[in-house]
Amino acid sequence: MKLVNILLKVYNYIPLFILNSVAFLFYMIPEKYRYGSVFWRQYSGLISQRNLTERQREMYEVNLLRKKLSDAYENIPFYNNSFNIVGVTPAEFNSVLDLSKFPVIDKDIVRSNCDKMIRRGLLKDELDYVTTSGTTGQALGVYQDKSILMREWAYVNYIWKRTGYSPDSSRLIMRGKVFREKKLKGQCWQWDALKRELSIDVFAMKNDNLELYCKKIEKYKPQYIHGYASAIIVLCHYIEKRNLNHKFLGVLAVSESVTTEQRGYIEKVLKARVFSFYGHTERLVMAAECENSTEYHIEPSYGFVELIDSKGNQIWEPGIRGEIVATGFLNTAMPLIRYKTGDIAEWSETAECACGRTHRRLKSIEGRWKDVLIGKSGTKFSLAAINMHTRVYDNVLKYQFCQEKMGETSLKIVPAQKYKNIDSEKIIEQIYEKTGNELNVKIDIVEDIPLGANGKFCMINQKLKIDKCWEEIF
Ligand SMILES: [Zn+2]
Repeated sequence: MKLVNILLKVYNYIPLFILNSVAFLFYMIPEKYRYGSVFWRQYSGLISQRNLTERQREMYEVNLLRKKLSDAYENIPFYNNSFNIVGVTPAEFNSVLDLSKFPVIDKDIVRSNCDKMIRRGLLKDELDYVTTSGTTGQALGVYQDKSILMREWAYVNYIWKRTGYSPDSSRLIMRGKVFREKKLKGQCWQWDALKRELSIDVFAMKNDNLELYCKKIEKYKPQYIHGYASAIIVLCHYIEKRNLNHKFLGVLAVSESVTTEQRGYIEKVLKARVFSFYGHTERLVMAAECENSTEYHIEPSYGFVELIDSKGNQIWEPGIRGEIVATGFLNTAMPLIRYKTGDIAEWSETAECACGRTHRRLKSIEGRWKDVLIGKSGTKFSLAAINMHTRVYDNVLKYQFCQEKMGETSLKIVPAQKYKNIDSEKIIEQIYEKTGNELNVKIDIVEDIPLGANGKFCMINQKLKIDKCWEEIF
């Protein structure tokens, strides 16, 4: 078994203080062996794509799409059937315009056909199962190849390299994930020398803890911040008044869109570039900013992006908003082809980027990240922070939060057939754990949750005046 696989297996069973005392041994292993062959193969392959000409990149994408369509038609019962129903075969695919002959799929279709979308001959036990909440408020589970996590990590490292990041760089982690010392001891921070990660609890960002966080940052000197922009801003407010005896090299923003104002403020306080990227748990698209621009450069080998209008027509002109429909290339176990993400974007209006990459570029991406809930002490929780991407939502068809009072929220749930009372208990327990008991949750089981007036699903029906609450915190 490879070293990296052994480490991943035993990691959770070894106390952190032991891991921290032997972590230096890991960094004595030559870099090419340290992260395993899957990681390095993927990482090196990406570097070789850096200088593709526009023509080469287009041909490369068409080839990947052709292979994906043929493979799905031959080996995945769902696609064989759905292509036959509309009377199209992969032989009719010659250019990206031909994609429009193939049917689009969405979350409902994937949920109803999950078993038929898995490659023939594969057993579910051989695969990873991940769940995502996405844009529509309905949880979705998909199966993925086990190697996908390491490959994904190679992509993430590859795009972060544009900020000077390397696989050995250290990070301050400001995400919603419950880290080990929080779970075991209720501690609001943790240093992991093996991963070179200083994690801090973004649900407990009160003044005394913010002071503690600053001291830990000054002690462990993480080079980059990796987390939610909304949380990083809270830290910046504190640092602005206190000063910090440490300089970050960059801010790696995830899971939430970053507004121009947020970006400007964080960069002013930390004097480091904010770098944002777009991706999905379903492994559909990887798109990231570059050294010269804040537009999203789509990685051609990860997934193909189409924009479509409300009638399903492809949009290729810049300046017209459309829904992102994506075909992911990484997952061979359960491929998603022409998947409607619910996110809205438009193509870049500039012909070339100063970085020289020929990647197709999205000017901006709107979607899932606007809504927040307010905790008892005024802490803001985005849905990304609460993280609805876990198995406790497996039996939930749709959900929507409704908040009228700080620290309290109701959660409407449209249950799936298998939903039981124990599911409600698990959901409430997880929200308490994630928010550090900042939110009291009452679950209402309902038959349906209607769409909002704009035709979009609203995951948080927020009746509080958010700006006012926000001012109260600072
Ligand atoms: Zn660029």
